[in-house]
Amino acid sequence: MFACLQEIFSSVQGEGPYVGYRQIFLRFAGCNLTCAYCDTLIEPAPACRCELTPGKKDFRFVSNPLTPPQVARMVETLNPAIHHSLSLTGGEPLLHNEFLLELIPLLRGCRLRIYLETNGTLPQELKRLIHLVDIIAMDIKLPGTSRLPPLWDEHRKFLAAARQKEVFVKIVVDEKTSFQELDEALRLLKEAGEVPLIIQPVTLAGGKLGIGPERMLLLQERALKILPQVRIIPQIHSVLNLL
Ligand code: SF4
Repeated sequence: MFACLQEIFSSVQGEGPYVGYRQIFLRFAGCNLTCAYCDTLIEPAPACRCELTPGKKDFRFVSNPLTPPQVARMVETLNPAIHHSLSLTGGEPLLHNEFLLELIPLLRGCRLRIYLETNGTLPQELKRLIHLVDIIAMDIKLPGTSRLPPLWDEHRKFLAAARQKEVFVKIVVDEKTSFQELDEALRLLKEAGEVPLIIQPVTLAGGKLGIGPERMLLLQERALKILPQVRIIPQIHSVLNLL
């Protein structure tokens, strides 16, 4: 089994309730969506950029595709003991679930929790892998912000599967985010059993936020009428100048 990865490195989580926790990141190539605000290189690169010492940015390039034992060895060299978890990110990591089914058992000795960052649209793929995952950081894509067609049905099925594990949902919002589409997302989260919600203001080029404070607070107030746990957390990578 092989997979194309973009990067393997050590950094801190820059989004959501685990913000600031030290993680080893596996960034997979490829995605099944094309969000308007995507800031990630998702086309497979000829080589994966692999950090050799945690936090030092001393990369070497290893030709793609990679095997699970190759990736396991790279994770082991990044001193797993100082990390909270292994973040599977992308792109969409669930497009590589055969690879992950082989890789994750190889990493048992590292004692890393498995933190899955996903766009929340591939429920069948999640079901095959969920027994190996500890924390699920799932997106709900609002059509107005992402410029994608509605994905409510995919998100509903995904949430139903994800509830077996710790799960929270992130929704990216901008100034044009409508109450109507937020309400649709809130209905899904309520139905799924009051899943914690992170409202994430979209980050524009140059690190500016694409929504003002008043609108953000209005969206949060609306969500708090339906759900008990609703937090506004922006991305922190650019503030800390991190990968
Ligand atoms: S789901 Fe994530 S990686 Fe895929 S296009 Fe959207 S923002 Fe980019």
